[in-house]
Amino acid sequence: MMRLPKFVYHTPRTIAEAVRIIGDVGPEAQFVAGGTDLYPNMKRRQQMPKTVISVMRVPELNQVTGDGSRGLVIGASVTLTEIVESEIIKTQYPVIASAARMISTPILRNMGTIGGNLLLDTRCNYYDQNYEWRKAINFCLKKDGDVCWVAPGSSKCWAVQSSDLVPVMVAIGARFRLVSTLGERMIDAAGFYNDDGIDYLKKRPDELLVDIHLPQTNGWRASYQKLRRRGAFDFPVLGVAAYVKYEEPNGALPDGRASDTTVTDARIVLGGIAPSPVQVADAAQALIGKPLDENQIQAAAEAAYIKARPLDNTDFVYQWRKQMARQYTIHALRELM
Ligand SMILES: Cc1cc2nc3c(=O)[nH]c(=O)nc-3n(C[C@H](O)[C@H](O)[C@H](O)COP(=O)(O)OP(=O)(O)OC[C@H]3O[C@@H](n4cnc5c(N)ncnc54)[C@H](O)[C@@H]3O)c2cc1C
Ligand code: SF4
Repeated sequence: MMRLPKFVYHTPRTIAEAVRIIGDVGPEAQFVAGGTDLYPNMKRRQQMPKTVISVMRVPELNQVTGDGSRGLVIGASVTLTEIVESEIIKTQYPVIASAARMISTPILRNMGTIGGNLLLDTRCNYYDQNYEWRKAINFCLKKDGDVCWVAPGSSKCWAVQSSDLVPVMVAIGARFRLVSTLGERMIDAAGFYNDDGIDYLKKRPDELLVDIHLPQTNGWRASYQKLRRRGAFDFPVLGVAAYVKYEEPNGALPDGRASDTTVTDARIVLGGIAPSPVQVADAAQALIGKPLDENQIQAAAEAAYIKARPLDNTDFVYQWRKQMARQYTIHALRELM
């Protein structure tokens, strides 16, 4: 049985208290929300904080405020089950509810939060193992070793960004609010992830993710497609988020469909294939300025196929995952027609 190492546990009730504790303790402290990622990592001795600070009892982090006409703000500690069941998210931001519904299992979604999902550790076959397994291969660059077993000549870790909500947040243009004792800042989801499996976030360890700001729902639609081995639960080994904004002179029809079909903005974002989400600029260019039809979809899918370079460090043969980038982009865009 894998046991947790010993640690000191805090349950602050305010943002000020949470950031003060982490500021006082320093790099040996870490925040925890549902713990569905952090605690298994601690059991495997991949992360070893001596102080763990729960963010679940801070009221501001547990709220959902606003709506589609003003933009929605989701507290970082809102659970994935609450996201899946929220009427406002289901009706006004259905892509968020549907991506959240694909994450892990109902029990894990009861514990796991949106914030924890957006800050998830990167994954790799040589890393997601217990301590003894990793010790037997002399560890690896990401933790305790000095070689990357995926690319032995590389000085960089290629562990994969494997959150289902990250590509969606990048595609729709969400923003994150971070708070520390030094103040507060907003950062775009698109600029938040580093292409480095070890240093994968542009967040300092002392910064608390307070909430996630979704844009107004004026004229855009988005969808998400996930490739995984088991439909019941599994991390994505490819995720495709598609975002399309239509011309707005007549606005959207009451049923949510766009009244004008010319695409004025588009984003295709691939998850589960690299240390950070991959934006496919050529796919967006193939869509912008034209109506969304089968020809444009095929062109965008081809661009996604060319750009996708999955690595051989998660499930399935990586060449096949590359081909699936084309297919899943087609599925994601057809949903938006
Ligand atoms: C069997 C299994 C299957 C899974 N399947 C999937 C899947 O299919 N898709 C998927 O995306 N994920 C999956 N996960 C991962 C995980 O369950 C989810 O991503 C979940 O949303 C993580 O949230 P959490 O609250 O439990 O995070 P935690 O484990 O509490 O935290 C994760 C990280 O975020 C940090 N953190 C959390 N909240 C804050 C905050 N407010 N401010 C600053 N730092 C913070 C923690 O320090 C930690 O580094 C799976 C996990 C398991 C165990
Ligand atoms: S990509 Fe390389 S360094 Fe990173 S976790 Fe995998 S084996 Fe380790």
